Amino acid sequence: MTGPMELAPDGLAPTDTAGLSAWAEIDLDAIADNVAALREHAGGTPVMAVVKGDAYGHGLAHSARAALARGASWLGVAQVAEALDLRAAGVTAPLLSWIHVPGTDLAPAVQADIDLSAGQPWALASMADAARATGRTVRVHLKVDTGLGRGGALGDGWTELLAAAGPLVAEGAIDIVGIWSHLAWADAPDHPTVRAQRERFVEAIAEAERAGIRPQVRHLANSAATLTDPQARFDLVRPGLAVYGLSPVPDLGAPQRFGLREAMRLLARFSSVKDAPAGQGVSYGHEYTTPAATRLGLVPIGYADGIPRAALNAGPVAVRGTRARIAGRVCMDQFVVDLGAAGLDAEPGEELVLFGRGADDEPTAQDWAEACGTINYEIVTRIGPRVPRVLVGTAGREDADG
Ligand SMILES: *Cc1c(COP(=O)(O)O)cnc(C)c1O
Repeated sequence: MTGPMELAPDGLAPTDTAGLSAWAEIDLDAIADNVAALREHAGGTPVMAVVKGDAYGHGLAHSARAALARGASWLGVAQVAEALDLRAAGVTAPLLSWIHVPGTDLAPAVQADIDLSAGQPWALASMADAARATGRTVRVHLKVDTGLGRGGALGDGWTELLAAAGPLVAEGAIDIVGIWSHLAWADAPDHPTVRAQRERFVEAIAEAERAGIRPQVRHLANSAATLTDPQARFDLVRPGLAVYGLSPVPDLGAPQRFGLREAMRLLARFSSVKDAPAGQGVSYGHEYTTPAATRLGLVPIGYADGIPRAALNAGPVAVRGTRARIAGRVCMDQFVVDLGAAGLDAEPGEELVLFGRGADDEPTAQDWAEACGTINYEIVTRIGPRVPRVLVGTAGREDADG
């Protein structure tokens, strides 16, 4: 292959959309600019861009490179396999992976310079095994559960975790690089748990210091806290959603209010457009019936691609700059739009927008979340591997940014 494909081996170039049924346009410059905006929100505190879940559906490696291009200095993922994928793609930035189970072989991660999180003594024991197997010191972030009630050492478990770490540090098997935690209610900045978790975090760090453990980085803030809580910054902030230009606090404002812009637009082409009479039942179970003679447009993307079935009769789309809605059930591979009901027509092969930036009446992922009773995180993250990612912008591409 020659030309743009070479520049973006993990995504298509924009000129390649002719003939595609549906695609997700990923704006690399938006990701990069969002990271720059987050650094400002964080008052210059270093940013760990969270790229788990295939970079919230945006595509792992190109999103990571775009985030690094405008100032992310760390990357964060959930699974060890995601971290190894980044290393295989040539990404060398500091990288933390926080989910594994007893029996996960951590040696490849240790060989690949991946930092690991431990919230339980068994995890430290697994890491010590990996250290002995590789002859290396494992870089560990100790996780304290400050009140989320999810991962990390809770209550006296923290004291036990510190006690388990001590001898392994002395042996040279592990190095405590970080202490970290995660917030339960950061999207409601005034919620009393936010302050209580921060205070517990400070206490837990002090206890570690009394035990002789002095980490390089302490980190607590997700996107919502990065945007709303200067006291949650510590040494590193850990935003995910906001990197992709979505608002983690929709009640407080749209992305633009925080200087962010949506990095994903989801588009498709009508595979058919046809006349239908009044009273025509549409899609499985006929949960929609045409109120008048109309034109039905068929859109070749469905729940196998991540379009929620909950979008029944509700999912918004934009056709020729005008809003229309899904008619009837979302199927595995397609759904229908009643064009006439929206005063519209379209040609087979014509583009429509499922979600994007809200410009020109384009719906947003937030609009889809509201239509489907879910959150914007889920709308973008569930877009599946059958949907090609088409890259626009240059941030992080090999030919750009030096
Ligand atoms: C997903 C995740 C983040 C990022 O959260 P956002 O709300 O997307 O910013 C940060 N830390 C941990 C532990 C996570 O699981």
